[in-house]
Order: sequence, then structure tokens, then C-alpha cells
Amino acid sequence: MAEEKTKGQSSKEATKEKKIKYPYQEGKGLPPLNLYLHWCKACNICIAFCPLDVFDPDRDGKPILARPEQCSQCAICWLHCPDFVITSNYK
Ligand code: SF4
Ligand code: SF4
Repeated sequence: MAEEKTKGQSSKEATKEKKIKYPYQEGKGLPPLNLYLHWCKACNICIAFCPLDVFDPDRDGKPILARPEQCSQCAICWLHCPDFVITSNYK
């Protein structure tokens, strides 16, 4: 039992250490996301839900990638967009 616990803890720590670094986080490579804005209805969900403040709204209320280097590919935005506007270049 005690051994299993130790194994569990060490794999958690290993996952933390293996945190992926994407090229756009160093200012190179493809941007983290594609936004097909013809389908966007400016509902603001992606902007409001992004935990890392990657988007700013443009003058129509549609998202722009204002801080792409902060994107962690958490998937919250593309899973919640009701109009399938957002796709990832990395997943
Ligand atoms: S994948 Fe996550 S961090 Fe990146 S823009 Fe979408 S919600 Fe924000
Ligand atoms: S969630 Fe989708 S439809 Fe809504 S503002 Fe964002 S990209 Fe546009």
C-alpha cells in the first residue's frame, strides 16, 4: 500500500517536471491557434474563459491573439466555442 502511494506521488512530480514548452512561447514557430473568424459571432466565451488572458477583443468583439506566448494549449477555448472557430496548431 505504502509503496503504491509513493509511486503515485513520484509520477505526479514527473508530470510537473515534463511540462511541455511550445515554440510560440519563445516567440517562434506557428501561432498556438487558428481562428476562423468568419464563423465567429463575438459571444465572448473564449475571451472570458481563457485562464491565461491570451485574447483581446477586436472592435467587433471577436478574439485576437494578443498574447499568444502565454497559451498553454489547455483547450478551454476551442472546447467551449459554440461555432468551432478555434483550432489548435499543436493538438
Ligand atoms: S488553449 Fe487555453 S490558454 Fe490557450 S487561448 Fe485557449 S483557453 Fe487560453
Ligand atoms: S467563443 Fe467562438 S464564437 Fe464566441 S467569441 Fe470566441 S471564437 Fe467567437
